[in-house]
Amino acid sequence: MPDRSTSSEPTETPVTSAPETPTVARKIYPIVKYGDPVLEKPAKPIAKFDAELEELAEDMFATMYGAQGIGLAAPQIGKSIRIAVVDVTSGKNPEAKIVLVNPEVTHGEGEKREEEGCLSIPGFRGYVIRPHFVTVKAQNLKGEWFEIRGEDLLARAFCHEIDHLNGILFLQHLSMLKRDLIKRKIKKLKKQGEW
Ligand SMILES: [Zn+2]
Repeated sequence: MPDRSTSSEPTETPVTSAPETPTVARKIYPIVKYGDPVLEKPAKPIAKFDAELEELAEDMFATMYGAQGIGLAAPQIGKSIRIAVVDVTSGKNPEAKIVLVNPEVTHGEGEKREEEGCLSIPGFRGYVIRPHFVTVKAQNLKGEWFEIRGEDLLARAFCHEIDHLNGILFLQHLSMLKRDLIKRKIKKLKKQGEW
């Protein structure tokens, strides 16, 4: 989803006396780019809610933060399964971390046209109309169903990530002219070995 290009704040010098919370080294996945068929096919529902899925979610957050994204769907790391992570604060507020398993948009309201980008289509952006408010139904990492509402950027992130799970990219929401222009440019980049 839209990348947030604000630079991260400088890390503070660690205070040696403070008790350290054990940190697990997270796996940073390479992000699959446009052209890979995994991005354009519907992902499979998740039925197993185990420690492995929890690990995957944390690794997805780490991968997303590393790429300065605010959302990441499993197909973007080459896994065709229905899980996505969203954090519109880019890691600034741990409570803003949202994991969506098998999510669905159940309600949308209003319209908002904003510029959007995608970690799988780096360097390209386009205006996409999305609902201003959405309600999403999803499972958490324990398999429990919940409902969450999103407004503005959060609504946009939900829609963008759920689209990914359905094999849909933001390019499909652009005018044919704009879409073809981007596709042509990507083709050229591929030819030059830069994609
Ligand atoms: Zn995307």
